[in-house]
Amino acid sequence: MLQTLAQSLAAAEAGGYAVGAFNVSDLNQAYAVLTAARRTGSPVIVQAIAGMAAYEDEAWWWARLREVVVSFDDVPAVLHLDHGRSYDDCARAIDAGFSSVMIDASRDEVTDEPSDFDSNVALSLRVVEIAHPAGVSVEGELGTIGGAEAGVRGEVDEIVFADPEQAEEFVRRTGVDALAVAVGTSHGSVKLGSQRLRIPLIAEIKERLPNTYLVLHGSSSIPGEAVATINAHGGELPESHGIDTEQKQQAIESGIRKINQGTDSHLAWTAALREFSDRERSVVEPSIATAVAMGAMERIVEQRMHEFGSVGRAAALTPAGR
Ligand SMILES: [Zn+2]
Repeated sequence: MLQTLAQSLAAAEAGGYAVGAFNVSDLNQAYAVLTAARRTGSPVIVQAIAGMAAYEDEAWWWARLREVVVSFDDVPAVLHLDHGRSYDDCARAIDAGFSSVMIDASRDEVTDEPSDFDSNVALSLRVVEIAHPAGVSVEGELGTIGGAEAGVRGEVDEIVFADPEQAEEFVRRTGVDALAVAVGTSHGSVKLGSQRLRIPLIAEIKERLPNTYLVLHGSSSIPGEAVATINAHGGELPESHGIDTEQKQQAIESGIRKINQGTDSHLAWTAALREFSDRERSVVEPSIATAVAMGAMERIVEQRMHEFGSVGRAAALTPAGR
């Protein structure tokens, strides 16, 4: 059952939990994420990044992705564009039937320098003006969340924390439904800094924006066992530390309602595939290896759903009799 981000997060706000947002770049990953949601009775956000897919034809991919999401009709799911970098990215996603888009105008699309506040407001507002009439939710971003965003942009080696006063003005001027706030996380599998979230900053922003849903980006935990498995089977990942579960749960208590988990499920997938290929040296049937990777992704997604408190919440969101 396709939901908008606003619908999904309104329920999360009322229930005091967060909905996990998982990045997928092919149909198998989408199937794994949705299967985890079905098994745990959890709402879910399936998200894709423009230009990041196993398929060359984006229009084809997005149409098929939407069909897969809709086919899980007992799973309340948001189909969300993660980090739209331009008006055009968001317009294409709205045309493709996404129920939510993120416009990340916090950095200039061309120069990748931090945008000034007014340009961020102007572009975000233009997206809201096409999204809302189409019944599509919008997430904006304020401040700079550091790190590498899935290959879309270069490494950003700074975190510019969100300013609560600006956050309030940003939402007032743009009308975004949800806001990604830079509160100490960074993107990717190698994290910047100490990875301590500024919990009081989240609470302060939430107090000023009681009707806006706050989003945590770059919040993968980077499980050590997945990194170790990858490296034991030929990988060369540097040591890194992510955001631990306790901090994410404190963030939820302070008002975070959407938690982006791009990297953890990808680490689980890659670890399973590397271990399998190393062990099963004569298997060539692709579905056997793919099923192993999908299973690993399902398990980590289920684990995150338990940690975020979204398990069992689907029943309240789906029409009776389903
Ligand atoms: Zn992000």
